Amino acid sequence: LIALEDVRKRFGDNEVLKGITLRIEPGEVIALIGKSGSGKSTLLRCINGLEQLDGGAIMVADAQVADDEMRLRLLRLKVGMIFQQFNLFPHLTAGRNVMLSPTVVKGTSKADAEKLAREMLERVGLGHKFDAWPDQLSGGQQQRVAIARALAMEPIALLCDEITSALDPELVNEVLAVVRSLAAAGMTLIMVTHEMRFAREVCDRVVFMHQGLVHEIGPPEEIFANPKTPELQQFLGTTA
Ligand code: ATP
Ligand code: MG
Repeated sequence: LIALEDVRKRFGDNEVLKGITLRIEPGEVIALIGKSGSGKSTLLRCINGLEQLDGGAIMVADAQVADDEMRLRLLRLKVGMIFQQFNLFPHLTAGRNVMLSPTVVKGTSKADAEKLAREMLERVGLGHKFDAWPDQLSGGQQQRVAIARALAMEPIALLCDEITSALDPELVNEVLAVVRSLAAAGMTLIMVTHEMRFAREVCDRVVFMHQGLVHEIGPPEEIFANPKTPELQQFLGTTA
């Protein structure tokens, strides 16, 4: 369970999140949509403990996201985050990239971490790429390694911030297929995405953010087929 209660975040006098209240059940797949600047990335960063809140509270499982550095670290271990840029370590093979956090952060033994890394690479369809270097992999493969790396920490949820936006169009589907399989396996997912068709097919709920607030929320068939507010109608009109 992830619960946000009146979450507020400002940068200087720019109030970016103006009181977000949201409950995400285990296994739910949420699409976060909205105009550029509406606060989507900031919201994910708050959930992952990368930003300090200016108000409200976030609960992940049963731990409250606090300013306490120790608790923030624990939170980051529980919630995985994947970005538009894959950020693999270029001097480590795919397998070593996946092994790194479990060994360094969790103290997993090298043998166990390697076994885990092989399993996770297998899960994203890259079992044969354990020894490949990042620059030998396509963008789609690198992004799948980044997903495997997040999975290796056994997160209770994965936050995805436009993870296909930097990819050539022909590589988008292989990454979405991995996300689809994680969703089917029951992973809790919150994804900022411009892939409306994918959101419609895979997500349980769509959250439309507008000017730092949840403006409309509902199952995809309602949000896409029957948007209620003029703001959402306009947003969908410009992205369709
Ligand atoms: P996009 O679709 O372009 O990624 P977004 O919905 O993810 O947009 P955010 O990145 O959350 O939007 O940004 C929301 C607002 O917060 C913007 O006005 C942005 O300029 C501001 N902002 C975000 N991060 C910071 C920061 N570290 N310092 C100052 N302002 C920031
Ligand atoms: Mg963003």
